[in-house]
Amino acid sequence: MAKRDVYEILGLDRNASQEEVKKAYRKMAMKYHPDRNPDDQTAADKFKEANEAYEILGDAEKRKRYDQFGYDGVNGQGAGGFGGAGGFGGGFEDIFGDIFDMFGGGGGFSSSRRRGPRKGADLRYEMNITFEEAVFGAEKTIKVNKMDTCDSCQGSGAEAGSDTKTCSHCNGTGEVRFAQRTPLGQILNVRPCDHCNGEGKTIDKPCKSCAGSGKAKKEKKLKINIPAGVDNGSMISLAGEGSPGDKGAPAGDLYVIFNVKPHSIFVREGQHIMCDIPITFVQATLGDTIDVPTLEGKVKHKIPEGTQSGTVFRMKGKGVPSPRGLGKGDQYVKVIVEVPKNLTDKQKELLKEFAADGSDSSHEQRKSFFEKVKDAFK
Ligand SMILES: [Zn+2]
Ligand SMILES: [Zn+2]
Repeated sequence: MAKRDVYEILGLDRNASQEEVKKAYRKMAMKYHPDRNPDDQTAADKFKEANEAYEILGDAEKRKRYDQFGYDGVNGQGAGGFGGAGGFGGGFEDIFGDIFDMFGGGGGFSSSRRRGPRKGADLRYEMNITFEEAVFGAEKTIKVNKMDTCDSCQGSGAEAGSDTKTCSHCNGTGEVRFAQRTPLGQILNVRPCDHCNGEGKTIDKPCKSCAGSGKAKKEKKLKINIPAGVDNGSMISLAGEGSPGDKGAPAGDLYVIFNVKPHSIFVREGQHIMCDIPITFVQATLGDTIDVPTLEGKVKHKIPEGTQSGTVFRMKGKGVPSPRGLGKGDQYVKVIVEVPKNLTDKQKELLKEFAADGSDSSHEQRKSFFEKVKDAFK
């Protein structure tokens, strides 16, 4: 199924600022919100489409990936999408708070009425993984404590053998209407019935295990496939592993966000690996072959004669694989020349001898610096 371009969905051009994205999304969400378009499937689809587009464009990291790879960049990975940092938990809910505020407060139209069974809540799980697990991928099992269908009543909320009755407070409509006088005239308000939670029915004898809610807290084990190449803040989603929905509605999704523990010698920058290696001034001066630790074990690397401290060597393909299978990054090795301390008397003698024999021609930078000083203070 071909999906529409997210910019097209929100009616934006590709250079739109994050502020414009947010505005365009709000406009769409207000226009197509189910509360304003009851029983209108086209509006519901547009609302969903706008949400999905905003999920991508509202998150700078995901937007960058979408610009580069299209939908593939934001959701390959079979079961769930491979996403970027945060954005969902923070930004997404924030903006929704705003919208419900706009619907609920101020204006004459004040309805918090629910339409149909509600989808379960999305859950967010932060998972600590090691540097290596992030680089190479791994399979781990997590335990999630979440609300699930009650076993005793299979989610009905009613004790075995008992029946449901039509709610006497709302006569089975699930809603309560009341008039309110305002400076603009009389306004009719509608809200869900408190007695039956908007379901129109009450339970004769509530289930003892779940007190009639139909839901119970359970510990569930879930297998998580960490894709190779994920980074700190990367996110995957597991469809349907969130909280259960109302009767007849789908469960929410589970979002797993990775916290990657720092490594003792490697620092990661995207797909590249950085590391500093101290070498002696003798190795730097005479050149040497050193053992460089890489993600896949030690690799020999030649340091040429006269290597300066801070020189960076690139080792191609020794970095982190792309989670989308698009090759590997590189490793960058910075050599740091360590000035020796605590020398023996003999070593000091040798160095003095070395210095006495040396000339400025073996220290180019020093030579040119002192020539500049001479010129400057002439
Ligand atoms: Zn129950
Ligand atoms: Zn009721």
